[in-house]
Amino acid sequence: MDSKKELAKSFSNKIDDKCPKDGLKALHVCGTHEQSILKHGLRSIIPGRLELKMGPGCPVCVTPAKEIDEAIWLAENDVTIATFGDMLRVPGTDKSLFDARSKGHDVRMVYSIEEAIKISNEVDEVVFFGIGFETTAPSNAAAVLNGLPNNFSILTSHRLIPPAMEALLNIEGVDFDGFIAPGHVSTIIGTKSYNVFSQKYGMPVVVSGFEALDILYALLKLTEQVDANTSKVENAYERAVNEEGNPKALEMLDKVFKTIDADWRGIGTIPGSGLEIKDEYSRYDARVKYDIDIEDSRDIHPGCMCHLILTARGKPTDCSLFAKECTPQDPRGPCMVSREGECNIWYKYGGKD
Ligand code: SF4
Repeated sequence: MDSKKELAKSFSNKIDDKCPKDGLKALHVCGTHEQSILKHGLRSIIPGRLELKMGPGCPVCVTPAKEIDEAIWLAENDVTIATFGDMLRVPGTDKSLFDARSKGHDVRMVYSIEEAIKISNEVDEVVFFGIGFETTAPSNAAAVLNGLPNNFSILTSHRLIPPAMEALLNIEGVDFDGFIAPGHVSTIIGTKSYNVFSQKYGMPVVVSGFEALDILYALLKLTEQVDANTSKVENAYERAVNEEGNPKALEMLDKVFKTIDADWRGIGTIPGSGLEIKDEYSRYDARVKYDIDIEDSRDIHPGCMCHLILTARGKPTDCSLFAKECTPQDPRGPCMVSREGECNIWYKYGGKD
């Protein structure tokens, strides 16, 4: 047995030793964690009574239909929309950005805001549809601070992870014993951002990296906390995460954005969970620049249960459309579109109960 396999076996044995006999539910909020869990078959390595659940860890999935409708409205009103590839096929209320592009509107896929800025040399008006958690927001903040072309603005759809984690604690039917926190978000916000969970809710938190051994180690730390009846914030990803986070990134976020109550697809409004461009930079805010007119929107389409998947109250295989009417080629809900969506990941790696 190689050393990694030996270590994995050792972690698994220790988890088995410490895991309560009546079971333990660990909840993570990260599509990359779910990918690693399925890719490496971690659910088959750990004892069956340790259940791994996924919450709202996919920025594409949680973007409300209304904000996709806003981007489509702009495209239909002769503004060039630039956004990440995964956003193109996510359904808005009636259609997707991809549908708008099929009708001849100028919707472009980019990999970064810098690429979107270059498009401003070619067209009259460009809006960058900027989504993502704390990991992607700093690059948009940096672009704003560096100054943007006059014909360029941002439709912001950033969401913050700790408020969503807190919201899960207050949603009826969401049942778990501790958090596995996302390593990449934690590099920006630091472990201190999770103190509220141990201090206010008595909920253990362990920050984890993304390798199979990272996740197993984090699960062991979480199991040990539950076994010892303690709740603290533990850093199991010390090679990348510290207590304070990334001060430069946090400073840029603070300069450019203010925190607002924001809607999450299928979940509703979560206090303090979104970012809006501050007044001093409002010339770069597409919602200020354009009179976007969206009246009603619909997040969840008939038969889709993404609202339950995103709140860890259901698994992809609970959905009657999974891998039948709903596939990555013909997605019915956002969780099947994005590579970070739980339905997409389960489809790709053959996830089962
Ligand atoms: Fe929605 Fe498709 Fe997932 Fe079902 S399988 S919850 S329809 S995205």
